[in-house]
Amino acid sequence: MNSISRRGFLQAAAATSAGVALTAAPLQQLWAREAKAALAVTPLSTGLWMISGAGGNVVLKAGTEGALLVDGGNAANSSALLKLALKTADAKKVHTLFNTHWHPDQTGSNQRAGKQGARIIAQENTRLWLATDVTWPWNGQTFKRLPKIAQPNKTFYTNGKLESGIQYGYVSDAAHTDGDLYAYFPQQNVLAVGDVVSNQGWPQVDWVTGGWIAGIVGGLQRISTIGNENTIIVPGRGPVMTMADLKTHYDMYGAIYDRLSKLLNSGRGPTEAVDAKPAKEFEAKMGNPDEFVRRAFESLWAYVTPDA
Ligand SMILES: [Zn+2]
Repeated sequence: MNSISRRGFLQAAAATSAGVALTAAPLQQLWAREAKAALAVTPLSTGLWMISGAGGNVVLKAGTEGALLVDGGNAANSSALLKLALKTADAKKVHTLFNTHWHPDQTGSNQRAGKQGARIIAQENTRLWLATDVTWPWNGQTFKRLPKIAQPNKTFYTNGKLESGIQYGYVSDAAHTDGDLYAYFPQQNVLAVGDVVSNQGWPQVDWVTGGWIAGIVGGLQRISTIGNENTIIVPGRGPVMTMADLKTHYDMYGAIYDRLSKLLNSGRGPTEAVDAKPAKEFEAKMGNPDEFVRRAFESLWAYVTPDA
């Protein structure tokens, strides 16, 4: 294992272009579909809502100074999302915008919010990714850096608290990227966790910007210690969840992680890992796991091999 360099692995991953072409299309179709999807507002508590359909889930809070958002959907839906958010919260502008991580389905309203003078809060690693171009080797997709006005303008390393009592912190396990944050609304007992948790199919394991399968397990453990057994969790995708749901996810990803580790330790590669069907009993509930398993296995590879 140690003889395989990270660079060699990245080249190998980029070279599997036949598989890449097959996987790239469905993702883009998915995004195109979401760009036309209707936005739906779900009340979570007094003055607190979830808006879905704009990309990733968005949490909206009304406030005297303006609207607060956790994530801003993708750029294609940004205009419609902000209009709906301001109307729902009876606000004139976005005052604060959290980026749970750098992905385009979360940061598509950064430019509009930045131009309105909003405070854009992110973990420092998220700002760094948004200030550079990123390419995913598994489908060749490139994400351009955001203009300065759209980049987070208030970053942190470990945690913080807003005047209104909202707490936020770093999910340092790298569950999804190496810049994941959670935002907790203690008064309403609502916890927004971005793509650290997916409640709609398998999550994406973005190992290029630090995410990995053990991080999913660690991240689920970490966020389960925030709040209490009655906390409502807003995942990056899909309907809201309970702490009991989180525990189910934790057990599932823990089992898959163990199996993939064994495959890795016995010298298997990503295709053999997919063929071994390490997520078989979860397929009925979660869908076809092949893409997830491949990325999850690659994420282990990326972590155990030193940077060349
Ligand atoms: Zn994401």
